Amino acid sequence: MGTSGKERHGAKTGARSLTSAPMKTSPLPPVAVASRLRVVLVGTQHPGNIGAAARALKTMGLSRLVLVDPQQFPSDEAFRRAAGADDVLASAEVLATLAEAVADCHFVMGCTARSRRVALDELSPRAAAQQAVERGASGEVALVFGRERTGLTNEELQLCHVAVHIPANPEYSSLNLAAAVQVLAYEVRVAMLATDQLAPSSPFVEDASASHAQLEGMFAQLGQTLDQIDFHKGRAPDSAMRKLRRLFLRTGLSEQEVRLLRGILADAQRMARLAGGKTE
Ligand code: SAH
Repeated sequence: MGTSGKERHGAKTGARSLTSAPMKTSPLPPVAVASRLRVVLVGTQHPGNIGAAARALKTMGLSRLVLVDPQQFPSDEAFRRAAGADDVLASAEVLATLAEAVADCHFVMGCTARSRRVALDELSPRAAAQQAVERGASGEVALVFGRERTGLTNEELQLCHVAVHIPANPEYSSLNLAAAVQVLAYEVRVAMLATDQLAPSSPFVEDASASHAQLEGMFAQLGQTLDQIDFHKGRAPDSAMRKLRRLFLRTGLSEQEVRLLRGILADAQRMARLAGGKTE
């Protein structure tokens, strides 16, 4: 899959956090969400940007490109800039209007370089990507991008359910079209990784998150161990335990990680016994 272990692990940890936990219940198999997400480029003026957008999608494991009234397509320049993502370009659908391009979508997000100037709720790229993954579990989703010079018209934005704004430099907030596609595609990939959407290639797939009971068992053993190694030295143990609980709960431990930590604690307890038992 070409992602680093760090990225996979970080994303997986995120999936266990309280905020994103509901997404784990997605009923769809891993590839389905990527296959339900289309990226729509409206009225693109430079064919090179279409090619670069195709490349941006493919690098992030996405493939559905829809072109609404492109000024020039197909084009050699687009294929040159696609740099090997020819398959994404070749399968791109070309339609006359945005309304047609999103007719069967349940959720449509319009990307705009102009923040808060549209009468739509505005999402960050990260929140938009999460929505894409969540809503893609039950229906078709579209991410819509506007023209290089003028963006999306007000009528086109009316067809969107929310606006998405990349929080760029307010004095120079307009990204190149393909760069904006790359930012959103990356966030979608991170969201897919965080919800195990790409699980078949993940070595962490069997590493389920620890249950409440497993964590409480570990905390009880940690409390005993701290006593046995005389960590508190007469201080009340509550404050240290509260801090340690917060630390471990924040990291979203897996079952396997809890087993590893409990193994270390068991060895520390064994060493404490060998050294003469409780020292208090
Ligand atoms: N001058 C245009 C900018 C167009 S850039 C305008 O003022 O709207 C081409 C497209 O890239 C935009 O329509 C939008 O879909 C996307 N884009 C560029 N910068 C963006 C940003 N900061 N946030 C979200 N989308 C952006």
